[in-house]
Amino acid sequence: MAQLPLERDEPAAAVPALIGGKWITPAAQRWEPVYNPATGEVIARVPFATGAEVAAAVEAAAKAYPAWRRVPPVERARLMFRYKELLEKHFEELALSVTREHGKTLAEARGEVRRGIEVVEFAAGAPTLLLGEMAEDVARGVDSEMVRVPLGVVAGICPFNFPAMIPLWMFPIAVACGNTFVLKPSERTPLTAVRLAELFLEAGAPEGVLNVVHGGRDVVDGLLAHPDVKAVSFVGSQPVAQYVYAEAARHGKRVQALGGAKNHLVVMPDADLEATVASVVGSAFGSAGQRCLAGSVVVAVGDVGDPLVGALCEAARNLVVGEGTDPEVDMGPVIRAEARDRIARYIERGVRAGASLVLDGRRHPHLRGPAGGFWIGPTIFDHVRPEQEIACDEIFGPVLSVIRVPDLDTAIDVANRSRFGNAASIFTRSGAAARTFRYRIEAGMLGINIGVAAPMAWFPFSGWKASFYGDLHATGKDGVRFYTEVKMVTSRW
Ligand code: NAD
Repeated sequence: MAQLPLERDEPAAAVPALIGGKWITPAAQRWEPVYNPATGEVIARVPFATGAEVAAAVEAAAKAYPAWRRVPPVERARLMFRYKELLEKHFEELALSVTREHGKTLAEARGEVRRGIEVVEFAAGAPTLLLGEMAEDVARGVDSEMVRVPLGVVAGICPFNFPAMIPLWMFPIAVACGNTFVLKPSERTPLTAVRLAELFLEAGAPEGVLNVVHGGRDVVDGLLAHPDVKAVSFVGSQPVAQYVYAEAARHGKRVQALGGAKNHLVVMPDADLEATVASVVGSAFGSAGQRCLAGSVVVAVGDVGDPLVGALCEAARNLVVGEGTDPEVDMGPVIRAEARDRIARYIERGVRAGASLVLDGRRHPHLRGPAGGFWIGPTIFDHVRPEQEIACDEIFGPVLSVIRVPDLDTAIDVANRSRFGNAASIFTRSGAAARTFRYRIEAGMLGINIGVAAPMAWFPFSGWKASFYGDLHATGKDGVRFYTEVKMVTSRW
C-alpha cells in the first residue's frame, strides 16, 4: 500500500491510517491535499480521521498495551535493532520521501533520516536505560527499590518540518519503554510517517503497538481528551504548543510540548569570518529557514557588521534555489503557497518599518525550480531594531535579520529579550567571550562556532521559555523519564 502516483494524470492516492495493525482508508468528511512543494503538484490526499477513528486507534493501543508491557525490555530492544536495519535498507527511499513532501534538499533529508535512526539506536539501549535503583538497609532490615514502568498509551503530534525525524523522536523511545503509541503526523507531510510505520510493522511490532491517524485540530483534541491516553508528546508552533500543554494538563495527562523559536547568532569581531558566514548561511537558509533551530537573527558585535553583512549577502545571493532532488540545489521551496505569501508579507512590513533590505528573496537571481513550486529566496535585512516585528516573530522562512550592537553584553541582552529560548550561538575565537555567552544566555541549546546546535539523540532537545512547555524534554534520558513512571518498593522480610 501507500504506493504514490508518479504520473501527473493518475489520481492522488489516499494516505492510509493504521489502526490495530490494519491499514485503512477512513471514510472522511474532510480531505486535504498533500503537495510536492517544489512542483505544486498534489501527490496524495489525506483523510481527516473522525472522532470514532481516533477512539478506535486509542482503543487498539490500549488493547495492545498489557501484552506489550510484559515483553522483556531486551526483546523490545531487538525490535529496535531490526527496525534500524530496515531503516538503513530503505534510507534513500525515506530521504526521497522527505524531499518529495517537504521540499528540503536530498542532502538535508538524508541528514534528517540519519538523526532519526540515531534515536532508534538510542532506544535499543532500553534494557540499560530502564535500569532501576536499589538501596539495601534504608532502615534495619528494610530495603528500597525503584523500578521504571511504562505509562500505557502515549500520543505523539508532529509538525510538518521534519517528517521523518520528529516521529522517530517519539515512538521508538516510548515503545522501547513498554508503551503503546498513537502517532498523528502533520497533515501537510504524512507520507514519510506512514512509511516509517510500515517498516515498524515489518520489523515485527505487534498489532496495536503503533497506530497512525491523520488530521488537524479535531484529531488532536480527540487525543487530548481521551481518558486512555496517558501522555502527549507535541512538537509544533508556539501557540499550539501552549494550547496542547494546557489542554492535556486539564485532562490530567503528562505532556511535553515543543514550540517555536527565534534563534540568535552572536558574531564577535574576532570570529573567523569565512567559517562564520558558512555556518550562518547554513543555519538561516537550510531547509528554507523552516527549522526550529534555524538562526534568524544575527547580532553583529562592534565593527564586524559591515564585512559580515557583505559576505553574508554575497554567499546567500549565490545559493541555488530549486527542487531538492537536483544535486546542484542549495535550498528548496517553502511548504505551501500560503507560507510563501506570509513570508513575503513579513518582508514587505520589514521594509515599511524601516529596516534595510539588503537581499530580497522575492527576486532571487538563482531560482531554477519549476514554475508551480512555492519559491522564496534567501532574504537579509540589516540595521534591524530589536523590537521590530521581523526580529521578534518566528517567520519560519529564509529571512535573516541583522541587529548591530556595540558589545557582547548588549548582544546577550538582545537575545535574552526574546520570548523564545530554543537555541543561540556565538562565533568567536575568545574562550572568555564564549564562557560569558554560555553562562548568561537564556536559551536551552547553545552553539559555540556552530550554526545549528542540535543535540544528538542521547541528549535532551532542551528548548526554554516559549519554545518549550513541560518538564521533561524529548529524547535522551529525559525522553525515557517522560515515557516512564517510577515505582518505589520498600520491603522487610
Ligand atoms: P503547527 O503548530 O501548525 O502544527 C503542529 C501539529 O499541531 C500538527 O500535527 C497540526 O495538525 C496540529 N495543529 C495545528 N493547529 C492546531 C490547533 N489549533 N489545535 C491542535 N492541534 C493543531 O506547526 P507546523 O507549522 O506543522 O510546524 C512548524 C512549527 O513547529 C514551527 O513553529 C517550529 O519552530 C516548530 N518546531 C519546533 C521544534 C522544537 O523542537 N521546538 C521542532 C520542530 C518544529
